[in-house]
Amino acid sequence: MSATESPVREVIIIGSGPAGLTAAIYTARADLLPLVLEGEPSSNSDQPGGQLMLTTEVENFPGFIDGIMGPELMSNFRSQAERFGAQIETVKATRVELSTTPFGVWVGDPSTPDPTYRARALVIATGARSLMLNVPGEAELLGHGVSTCATCDGFFFRNQPIAVVGGGDSALEEAIFLSKFASSVTVIHRRDELRASKIMQDRARANERISFRWNSVVTEVLGEGKVRALALKDTVTGETSELLVDGCFVAIGHLPNTDLFKDQLKLTDTGYLVTHDGTNTNVPGVFACGDVQDSTYRQAITAAGSGCMAAIDVEHFLEGATE
Ligand code: NAP
Repeated sequence: MSATESPVREVIIIGSGPAGLTAAIYTARADLLPLVLEGEPSSNSDQPGGQLMLTTEVENFPGFIDGIMGPELMSNFRSQAERFGAQIETVKATRVELSTTPFGVWVGDPSTPDPTYRARALVIATGARSLMLNVPGEAELLGHGVSTCATCDGFFFRNQPIAVVGGGDSALEEAIFLSKFASSVTVIHRRDELRASKIMQDRARANERISFRWNSVVTEVLGEGKVRALALKDTVTGETSELLVDGCFVAIGHLPNTDLFKDQLKLTDTGYLVTHDGTNTNVPGVFACGDVQDSTYRQAITAAGSGCMAAIDVEHFLEGATE
């Protein structure tokens, strides 16, 4: 070991949403002294705690009869991990080196020759972020009528008019789900043709509570403290209008946070990490869990479940490696 080389840890976990912190709880309880790089505060979902930091009440996480606020739930995850000895650093990984073992992880300047940290096993739990419209009012009203998760927030809009933005399968799936609660669902799409699969289109078109606003983009989310309306612009005529809604679900796609790994790990066509046999990536000793490898379920509970799987996979890998 050179004078500048850091000691080799058993496991480093990158990311601190439900997946990363569950992996931390389990690896800490297995005496692996995990180091969690939780990210740095930002307004995006790659901040410490992940996407739940951007939600208000979480009613579908089992065990909380009356629900719990997203940030409080993540604070509990974090305290539980620390209680068992997880070391949590509020830093962002800026580079990883996975072609040699122990694996190298950099924070700060990625051009420095030596990694900041080294570990025998790595858990990637960097999550995904919802693409956003980036219009005035959207960020301010996120969690107060603006949402990116119908499964999480649909229930709060019982008998209220809402809008879904997007024309893909996600948008129509959300619209169909939301039609069970809302008084009306307006799908706002920037073109006059949907991108979604035919079967989803047929289902949405047959649903009496769903209507479509074609060739329309949202230019502003209006409301004080809660959503009151959306300012719309017709992309063909340029005409502007207001749509009165209590909720706005943005469903224009997701982006997994995989930039750091794209040249070193196998990704799907849509940029998610490929896992096999549990949480294994294509590099032995590197495991992935949560939304960074899941484009289907994307729930806090499924992320936590896969975090547990990653921790157990790490244990098995380290046992095998030290034999
Ligand atoms: P997607 O297929 O990429 O669709 C995104 C939609 O959002 C498109 O209609 C796009 O419009 C629109 N959009 C993108 N950026 C926008 C912007 N800035 N402003 C307004 N509209 C914007 O994403 P997805 O619906 O999340 O689906 C992702 C993948 O998961 C797809 O392969 C999909 O089939 C799959 N998926 C499947 C299911 C299912 O089978 N049940 C459910 C969900 C998702 P344009 O059409 O004009 O580009």
